[in-house]
Amino acid sequence: MKPETAFWVGACLVAALTSAQGQTSNASEPPPPSIEVPDLRTVNPVVVCGNCDQPFDTSTHKEVLQGLVSNKYIGELRKALYWQDTYHQSKSKAHFDNCAFNEAVGYMESLLAEVDSHVQSAKVANEQGDAASADAALVKAFFALGQTLHGVQDFYAHTNYVELSVSQVKKSTDIEVIAPWKPEGKQRIAELVSKPPGKALVSGVVFWGFPQICPNGTLSHKDMAKDKATTTSGMLKVAHLQNRNQYQIAVQLAREASQELIDYAFRKWPLMKKANGENVAFEVLVDRRGL
Ligand SMILES: [Zn+2]
Repeated sequence: MKPETAFWVGACLVAALTSAQGQTSNASEPPPPSIEVPDLRTVNPVVVCGNCDQPFDTSTHKEVLQGLVSNKYIGELRKALYWQDTYHQSKSKAHFDNCAFNEAVGYMESLLAEVDSHVQSAKVANEQGDAASADAALVKAFFALGQTLHGVQDFYAHTNYVELSVSQVKKSTDIEVIAPWKPEGKQRIAELVSKPPGKALVSGVVFWGFPQICPNGTLSHKDMAKDKATTTSGMLKVAHLQNRNQYQIAVQLAREASQELIDYAFRKWPLMKKANGENVAFEVLVDRRGL
C-alpha cells in the first residue's frame, strides 16, 4: 500500500468510527442536566399553606415569597426537585417512567420513611438539647420530602392519566386527584393499570431509563409527556374543558396533589411545620431531562 493510500484508508476508518460513536451516544443516556437551582423569585412558584384551615392568602403572595427566598427548608425541598432529574434521571421509579408504577409507589414509600426517620432523629436531638443536630435532621427531612414531591408531580406529567380522565368529566376540577403515597391512591393506580389495553394507565417509554415494563406499542416519553405546553401531548387542547390544553390540566392536578402531600407531611410531622412555618413555595413540573 502506498503511503498516501494508507493515509486515506486510515482517515476513512477514523471517520467511520467517529460516526459510529456519534450514533452510539444518541442511542444512550443523554448527559445529566444542571443541578443549579434557580432563584425562587425567577420561577413563578406556587405557594401553599401546609395543613391550614384556610388556603394560602394569595394577596400576600409577593411578601411571603420574599420571606421564603432564604428559607433553608424550602431551599432543600426545591434542591431535591432538581436533584431527581440530575442524579436519578434514568431511574424509572423517580419519574413514573416506563410503566414502573409499583416501583414508583414503593420508592415514594421509602422516601417518606426517610422523612420519618429524620424527624424522629430531630426529636431525639431536641430532647438532648442538641439544636444543631435537630436542625440538620430536619433539613434532610425536607430534602426527602422534595424527592417525593417530584414523583407526585411526574405522575400527572408522564402518564396518560390526564388523557384517560378528560373524557370522563364535564369540568377539569371534576378529575379525581390521585395521591400515590396513600393507600387509596395506590389502589386506584393498580385498578387503572389493570384495565384492558388502550384503556389502561401507562407511562411514556424512556429508552435509556430502567426498568422498562410497558406493554409493546406504548407511546414514547417524548410523545406522552406534559411537562411543558410545547410538547406533543401537552399542547393538545381539550375542547369540552374550556379548550384548556393537557399541560394546563396536568399542572392543575400536580398542584393539587402537591398541596395534599404538604398537608399530609405537616399533619404527620408537626415539627417540620414548626421549623419551616406554614407556607411552602415550589415549582410544579420541573423537568430538565432531555425528551
Ligand atoms: Zn421527573
